[in-house]
Amino acid sequence: MSQSFRFCPRCATPLELAAVDGGPQRLRCPDPACGFVHWDNPVPVVAAIVEHEGEVILARNRLWPPKMFALITGFLEKDDPDPASGVLREVDEELGLQGRVAEFVGHYPFERMNQIIIAYHVVAEGEVRLGDELAEYKKLPPEKLRPWPAATGLALRDWMLRRGLTPLAFENDALKAIHAFREIDPRLATAGQPTAGQLRAVRASGYQTVINLLPSDSKWALPDEAALAQELGLVYHQIPVAWEAPTAQDFARFCELMEAEAGRRVFVHCAANKRVSAFVFLYRVLRQGVPREVAERDLLAVWQPDELWRAFIDARLAQPA
Ligand SMILES: [Zn+2]
Repeated sequence: MSQSFRFCPRCATPLELAAVDGGPQRLRCPDPACGFVHWDNPVPVVAAIVEHEGEVILARNRLWPPKMFALITGFLEKDDPDPASGVLREVDEELGLQGRVAEFVGHYPFERMNQIIIAYHVVAEGEVRLGDELAEYKKLPPEKLRPWPAATGLALRDWMLRRGLTPLAFENDALKAIHAFREIDPRLATAGQPTAGQLRAVRASGYQTVINLLPSDSKWALPDEAALAQELGLVYHQIPVAWEAPTAQDFARFCELMEAEAGRRVFVHCAANKRVSAFVFLYRVLRQGVPREVAERDLLAVWQPDELWRAFIDARLAQPA
């Protein structure tokens, strides 16, 4: 997730959210003598579908969970003469391969990261030598590729379609079927109660930790969820949040867990994503500095909190933990 500024990078005054020149709301410095505006423009990133000896190279970044592979990507550098040169530089840095651009695939918005992905098909030769950022790589014949439903996956999908290949359905169709499923960022997804099969799909999609806010005696609860999670190799936490009486302690415990699990991909659920969307909204605003109206979009996409939950939310906002 892109962490937003809270203080002016020029003069350290706390930033405020305001419409600039009648345009959309932006974070800006309230000091007229400074006038800093955080425009938050998308950042250009180049991506390569690297073809090597007839197969496509997918790589895993050191910071990613096991089994999560993707295209070679990198930020466009100030000194790159153009994006095509930038992508060849990345392929050299990350794989130690000399390549040539075979085709411009397209550009894809990656809204969650506020990036614009500029994707190329690169044909490369030589022996792979992984750069520092990568943990491992694998090679697949083009017909075996399975695109993922995010910017670089869309590029891969388009490239396959142009070659007459039929990409398999996006892997997280099973996730989208979970009641009130909502992905907040690449590391955090929220939902209502998954079935046992859906919990397996959660694991298969690369999530490593489950935080359950539903009390076990709820009629919506999945019996033996803790045992199933353990069997699947998921880290499992439960904070039973009473629907009629959420507490400040529940939220404090939630913040502790979220911070402890920050390095993993986390799936948080309750019965209908109502408790969860409220807790996640508060966590993002109070602990991560996400602008309130950004976090609120995800909350309101799930539900309009009722009187009791609105009061709970307001009380937390009034007394930052
Ligand atoms: Zn300022």
